[in-house]
Amino acid sequence: MGKRRKRRKPIVRRAPRTLPKVFQCPNCGMKTLTIDFDKNTKKAIIRCGTCKLYAELEVPAAHHEVDVYAKFLDLFYEGTLEYTFLEEEEKSEAQEEGSEETLE
Ligand SMILES: [Zn+2]
Repeated sequence: MGKRRKRRKPIVRRAPRTLPKVFQCPNCGMKTLTIDFDKNTKKAIIRCGTCKLYAELEVPAAHHEVDVYAKFLDLFYEGTLEYTFLEEEEKSEAQEEGSEETLE
C-alpha cells in the first residue's frame, strides 16, 4: 500500500577530544593552538602543538580562551609578544603506545 517513508538518521560520530578548544596558530597557520589557564600565576598559557610556540599572557580572571586568543594575536602581530618555542623532548605526558587507531 502506502509509501513507507524512510527516515535516515544522520549518524554523527563525535570523537572524544581532550582539548576541544583549539585555535589557529599565527606562526605556523595550523589549528593546533591551545590555551590553558594557570590559576596560580593567573596567566594564560598559549601553546602550539605543531611549531611548539609557547607564550604566557597575564589576563584578568574573567577572560575566556577567545579573549586571550584575541589579545595574543594582537601582541603577536604588533611584535610585542614574548614567546618561545618548546623543545621536542617534552614527552612526560605523551603516550608512546604507537599510533594505531582502531576504526570500526
Ligand atoms: Zn604553530
